[in-house]
Amino acid sequence: MDFAFTEEQRLFAESVRRFATDKLQPGALKRAHDPEFDWATAQMIADQGLLGITLKAEDGGIGGTLMDAVIAIEQVALVCPKSADIVQAGNFGPIRTFAEYGTPQQKEKWLPDLLSGKMLISLGMSEPDAGSAATELRTSAREDGDHYVLNGQKVFGTHSRDASIYLIYVRFGPGLDGIGSIIVERNTPGFTVGEPSSFMSGEEWCPLFMEECRVPKENLLLGPGGFKRQISAFNAERIGNSSRSLAIGRHAFNLARQYALERTQFGRTLCEFQGLQWKFADMALKLESAQLLLYKAAAGADEGLPSAQDTTMAKLACNLAGFEVASEAVQVMGGMGYSRETLAEYCMLRTKGWMIAGGTVEMMKNRLAEFVFDRRFSQRAPSVKERG
Ligand SMILES: Cc1cc2nc3c(=O)[nH]c(=O)nc-3n(C[C@H](O)[C@H](O)[C@H](O)COP(=O)(O)OP(=O)(O)OC[C@H]3O[C@@H](n4cnc5c(N)ncnc54)[C@H](O)[C@@H]3O)c2cc1C
Repeated sequence: MDFAFTEEQRLFAESVRRFATDKLQPGALKRAHDPEFDWATAQMIADQGLLGITLKAEDGGIGGTLMDAVIAIEQVALVCPKSADIVQAGNFGPIRTFAEYGTPQQKEKWLPDLLSGKMLISLGMSEPDAGSAATELRTSAREDGDHYVLNGQKVFGTHSRDASIYLIYVRFGPGLDGIGSIIVERNTPGFTVGEPSSFMSGEEWCPLFMEECRVPKENLLLGPGGFKRQISAFNAERIGNSSRSLAIGRHAFNLARQYALERTQFGRTLCEFQGLQWKFADMALKLESAQLLLYKAAAGADEGLPSAQDTTMAKLACNLAGFEVASEAVQVMGGMGYSRETLAEYCMLRTKGWMIAGGTVEMMKNRLAEFVFDRRFSQRAPSVKERG
């Protein structure tokens, strides 16, 4: 067992950190509060070779490991939290599922632009009545000649405002085995991107409406029965979510640590007050223990996809640590922490989002309990027949 980076990983982390410090540190605060997608930065990050890290070389990727992608997202987030969204989009998001299951023709059509920071793909899984209960999704796909006809609505999609293509989870028939996915292009007749709404972090999302939306059959990603395979690829997305949660919590921690070393009250620097020292001790412990679970999940990824149990643990630990640490960092920095003069409040708002996105912390605990007891616990209310 070795808890240290390999020499190669250490050098890669240093090179990403140097790039981030030179190119992304200037403007990091302004970028955080701008809801526009930063295409110029996306292309710069692509040129640096930080998109498609885990994708195969024949798909236009770098052919690296999941750990490499985690290192990249961490090093960027530690310098410019907002720019880590670009690393997420190009490595862990729906692009990962798409690259895993897309046909050669689909990949040829879309991957080059996705990997060069010129195009975004957004995931449409959540619906107004299917959030944590994702398998209750209703968006339907029926066959009609050489097309599928989609009807339904999606909500909360990251990058839904700016994406050109959408990975839409659809229902071909009843039950879990009826679920699959289709790629929908933004300009498809019957597909409408609604007005943007804001999350508390300032990120914007748009509802997606499909009304008799005709999508060519060649856009099918996974047919009926594809849900389980999609979710195993989704574990890679969860690793990205975990990495950002933790790194952005650590970003806030670093700001608060520096502040506590410099700020004086009652004639003493803040770090001399034991009440604050204990907060920092707790924060450091949370960050470090979540970090180990994250690296365990990423390093243990078998053929590029991490195990469900390791991912669940890592996501839970990183979501909790990221938010709790960022929230304490704001507290330690007082009015300055609560102000938009620094990135601490942004870190707190973003880390709160990841306690909900990609499976809430409560749902992660439900899943973890299933691993503990090695059995499924249905969350569904028992039917009248089952109640007796
Ligand atoms: C920042 C952000 C980005 C997102 N990006 C995307 C995206 O790109 N694509 C996409 O499709 N969706 C996205 N989502 C949506 C996200 O996946 C859902 O918000 C999430 O799955 C929770 O669903 P919900 O909001 O409907 O909450 P609900 O499912 O209604 O849950 C409400 C509360 O009840 C709790 N709860 C529900 N069921 C149980 C249970 N069985 N046991 C215990 N507690 C339970 C939940 O944990 C939560 O606290 C995003 C959300 C956020 C906040």
